[in-house]
Amino acid sequence: MKTIEHFVDGQKFSGTSKKIGKVYNPATGEQSGELRLGNSDDLSKAVDSGKKAFELWSNKPPIQRARIMFKFKELIEKNADELTKIIVSEHGKVFEDAKGSLLRGLEVVEYACGIPQMLKGEFTENVGTDVDSWSIRQPLGLCAGITPFNFPAMVPMWMFPMSIACGNTFILKPSEKDPSCSIKLAELFLEAGLPKGVLNIINGDKEVVDEIIKNKDIMAVSFVGSTPIAKYIYENCAKNEKRVQALGGAKNHCVVMPDCDLKQTVNGLMGAAYGSAGERCMAQSVAVAVGDIGDKLVNSLSKKVESLKVGPGMDKKSEMGPLVTKEHLDKVKGYVDLGVKEGAKLVVDGRKLKLQGYEKGYYMGGCLFDHVKKDMKIYKEEIFGPVLSVIRVKKFDDALELVNNHEFGNGASIFTRDGDSARTFTSKAKIGMIGVNIPIPVPVAFHSFGGWKRSLFGDQHMHGPEGVRFYTKLKTMTSRWPSGVRSDPEFTMPTMK
Ligand code: NAD
Repeated sequence: MKTIEHFVDGQKFSGTSKKIGKVYNPATGEQSGELRLGNSDDLSKAVDSGKKAFELWSNKPPIQRARIMFKFKELIEKNADELTKIIVSEHGKVFEDAKGSLLRGLEVVEYACGIPQMLKGEFTENVGTDVDSWSIRQPLGLCAGITPFNFPAMVPMWMFPMSIACGNTFILKPSEKDPSCSIKLAELFLEAGLPKGVLNIINGDKEVVDEIIKNKDIMAVSFVGSTPIAKYIYENCAKNEKRVQALGGAKNHCVVMPDCDLKQTVNGLMGAAYGSAGERCMAQSVAVAVGDIGDKLVNSLSKKVESLKVGPGMDKKSEMGPLVTKEHLDKVKGYVDLGVKEGAKLVVDGRKLKLQGYEKGYYMGGCLFDHVKKDMKIYKEEIFGPVLSVIRVKKFDDALELVNNHEFGNGASIFTRDGDSARTFTSKAKIGMIGVNIPIPVPVAFHSFGGWKRSLFGDQHMHGPEGVRFYTKLKTMTSRWPSGVRSDPEFTMPTMK
């Protein structure tokens, strides 16, 4: 069994903590690794390394940083299959889906290659007579990222390429469930020419997270994970005077209008609800059937859900892999039990699924609920598994009201052929990312990713232009160069004449 270590100052680092976590292969249920869980001494070592590296890195011209980023991009492409296999082996999602998520992370690296353009700043000649003013953005210092299990490559890559391109150094605390991909990415970045200490990785649990929050040398924290932890990170980082963006959980609605293209909608919903076993923050977990579309929608969906091919992620025939851990599988099945008790109609029940040869893997089949009501827990809470709830409403306004009254506001979609419904939805939905006839409206790297309401605490979204803003601070200069005798002192508020 492999031991998974930290990565500090350009090399693997065992740390001083005796605490060990277990990493599993969800497809087989077997333990595949022992993970070193860090403590405050281990974090201090990474902080010292990151602070030292900042002196050199922040002074490197952006074009030189961009060249290393280019090399990193090439190495990710060259090693894409190996990185994907690592994701599949610890997360469980199917190979092509895992590869897609890696490539979405790669897009952020591609975007970060353009950092010289993004850091250009603004200049105004003659804001007053013979007075010029200009603004630049400078790096913050040492930043940290804390990431969830469900995208072990993509979510860390929303953060560290942007932060590092902006001239910061970075400590990543990946999910303790699937940390190996991050370590491989750090090794590749080093191979690309990144100086030692610019990217350090400390593995761990709450103990290390709390040390990150307290540490005075860490200037900013990016977090992605569940809402209660996002709120905790937001509050405590603010208390410790850090800049913070904390992305939380979701319950994404897909509004299905009676005039939609049903085939396209059902196909979209299948991928969005059951892809990656529903373990996506942008998964569609609620289909809102408007008007008389409910029966047709549920009939078409149920046939497809029943025939979903569930299997190990490395099997090319699998459409859906296992869930990430035994605990998570039990939690998701618990929600299905609860939905039945609450009175929703379980149209497809995937709880009993067993796979021959993989009896210990964390599999379940897709589940489909109909006649879900808005006061049920299975509607209100994030399940984060392959469970789709259909809720029926009479008209468009009822659907919009559901979307807007839900505590989460990450993503939402509408399937319709009517421009008026689509436009009203995009304008009025209190949601961060909207799709029109697009089931998973995840913004590409040169736009920014983030939700509203309790899906994001803080005010900057991730990557894209917002990423540059988050990882830099603004400085504005006003100057003049008078020659000859200096003017007399002025005691009034200067105005630009
Ligand atoms: P999680 O909140 O359990 O863990 C996220 C990170 O926080 C991990 O690194 C973990 O080690 C750390 N952590 C866990 N408990 C902690 C505690 N008590 N104190 C301090 N740190 C703690 O989330 P998860 O189960 O890994 O990921 C799934 C969740 O992430 C879902 O809710 C999903 O919606 C959300 N998510 C959101 C987005 C988004 O963009 N909004 C993207 C991906 C995932």
